[in-house]
Amino acid sequence: MSATYNFDVVVIGGGHAGVEAAAAAARLGARTALLTANCDTVGQMSCNPAIGGVGKGQLVREVDALGGLMGCAIDASGIQYRVLNRSKGPAMHGPRAQADKRHYQMEVKHLIESTPNLVLRQETIEGLRFEEVDDVGESRSKRRITGVIARGGIEYRAEAVVLTTGTFLQAVMHTGEARTPGGRAGEGTTAGVSHALQEIGFRLDRFKTGTPCRLHGRTINTKYLQEQPGDEIPQQFSFLTNSIEREQLSCWITRTTPEIHEVIRQNLHRAPMYSGQINSRGPRYCPSIEDKVVRFSDKESHQIFLEPEGYRTHEVYVNGISTSLPRDVQDVIIRMIPGLEEAEIMRYGYAVEYDYAPPDQLTLSLESKPVSGLFLAGQINGTTGYEEAAAQGLVAGTNAALFLQHAEPMILSREESYIGVLIDDLVTCGVDEPYRMFTSRAEHRLALRHDNADRRLTPIAQRFGLAESARVTRLQQKFVEIESVTSTLNDHRVNGVTLADLLKRPEVTWKNCLEMLPSLAVVSQEVAVQIENDIRYAGYLRVEQQRIERRRQHGEKPIPEGFDYCRVRHLRAEAREKLEKIRPRTLSQAGRVSGITPTDLTQILLHLDQPGRA
Ligand code: FAD
Repeated sequence: MSATYNFDVVVIGGGHAGVEAAAAAARLGARTALLTANCDTVGQMSCNPAIGGVGKGQLVREVDALGGLMGCAIDASGIQYRVLNRSKGPAMHGPRAQADKRHYQMEVKHLIESTPNLVLRQETIEGLRFEEVDDVGESRSKRRITGVIARGGIEYRAEAVVLTTGTFLQAVMHTGEARTPGGRAGEGTTAGVSHALQEIGFRLDRFKTGTPCRLHGRTINTKYLQEQPGDEIPQQFSFLTNSIEREQLSCWITRTTPEIHEVIRQNLHRAPMYSGQINSRGPRYCPSIEDKVVRFSDKESHQIFLEPEGYRTHEVYVNGISTSLPRDVQDVIIRMIPGLEEAEIMRYGYAVEYDYAPPDQLTLSLESKPVSGLFLAGQINGTTGYEEAAAQGLVAGTNAALFLQHAEPMILSREESYIGVLIDDLVTCGVDEPYRMFTSRAEHRLALRHDNADRRLTPIAQRFGLAESARVTRLQQKFVEIESVTSTLNDHRVNGVTLADLLKRPEVTWKNCLEMLPSLAVVSQEVAVQIENDIRYAGYLRVEQQRIERRRQHGEKPIPEGFDYCRVRHLRAEAREKLEKIRPRTLSQAGRVSGITPTDLTQILLHLDQPGRA
């Protein structure tokens, strides 16, 4: 007889979403099993050995502020830190760090192994278990999850399941004409989960993504290449990290040439995206080199970053030339790149096609609409990127644990976080290409800076039981320090003007304040950045806050669960159909559903405002 195990929450997949989901559920007291196809790949970076960037860096800081793992893991393993967009305003700053890839993965695994209530086990899941629910209201799910089936018929029973299978569902890898089953080089694929989802009425679709080749660093000639060092003072990701003291490694910059573009053009018929071998859509903003050559045909050259993958390896990631061209073409173009004339490829680039579940089938808590207790997070929801996956994982794992407690879910709003923007976009608008975060997606980005993520979110984490006491104490100390330094700046005058007023002037920086009042030297960099931003942008932030309040008043009118749109007079059939599918929770969310007009919203509002009509 096959074995059966009982848990409160089961998380399938130990990637960036799965580890956050499992750690969050366990932290909330749920007995949690993290089941993954290979324990040696827990937290593995499939592609770029880096965390953060513009928009993504903010997500990592938010995940950390909510008690997640990613910030601590990268701070333990970062080999080069840079804040991108430093020349722009603070809302646009994107903290980024390159990782020692193997060290990062081991650190995540270690954090998982150290989490109480959490069991990590190597299992491949091939099926999902459901039961019919008899007594359902119109809006409630008709099925409920009861567990999962692992290879060999082993059963894991749980009331809540989080699915984070990444790029592995019915996955096919492409390098030129060669097609190999697998979600990542050297790994396999599974179909059982896809079939189980389809069986219960989930829609699945296909996306594709790609990765460049990796080179042997000793065969690269950096003599004539531009060096790119890290920042002088590394900006740590976790609010728990004091500083990053380890040696930082440099990257190197080179470029493609018109001759390389010509070789690519001549071989386009062998590129799976152009030969018809791949039909699914990939990330538009992260194109392969063959895409770049076709789409930006007037550009003579594209930048390439050569990024070391760690301290104890010579492997180098070739950022900027993701490709699924055949191996022989990759061999030729790599050696045409300045500095790579002698380079040896260690791993060839490839593209991967996989199933994802369009995320309009989820609620804002990331629970699936067709099946209660089933949560989805990460690349399976049509996103791309480690950070997007981690953010969803943390929310899904938290809500899986809250589901067991019959408690209200943790739903973060667009006004308080990038995570709120991400999930609201996914659930309300769906995706038609792999979704990644950009600062431009957030309406209130000046308020959603990476430096104040702890102020915005750690109190929420504390309320839900996600934040450890050290984190809460640290934030309280920071509040005290901010208050005391701000009052010093308001009290100290130079030529009759307070330092706080001086700091509002664009030409005055924190450094100038230090010169005028040397005792400020004891203020930590973190607090200094936050005070400078708060004071400098106080006017804008006030206007933004008023806008948020106005929006809240008009837009946050709740739409009751199970609301019957058929009863709204004059609501267009198309609008009714869309709203029944998405089931927005508030009027403002309804307004963001594509195709919903202000008139539709007015009709719903009129209906809701009639006594006894909701
Ligand atoms: P993953 O990290 O894919 O993890 C999924 C986990 O689930 C794996 O551990 C897997 O073993 C496990 N699993 C799957 N099925 C089962 C099962 N049935 N039973 C048990 N375990 C299972 N992102 C970018 O931002 N930029 C890029 O350029 C980029 N390029 C990429 C190129 C490639 C080739 C690949 C594969 C991915 C790329 N990504 C890129 C995407 C990035 O890797 C993902 O966004 C991120 O890893 C998603 O995290 P996840 O947790 O959802 O899934």
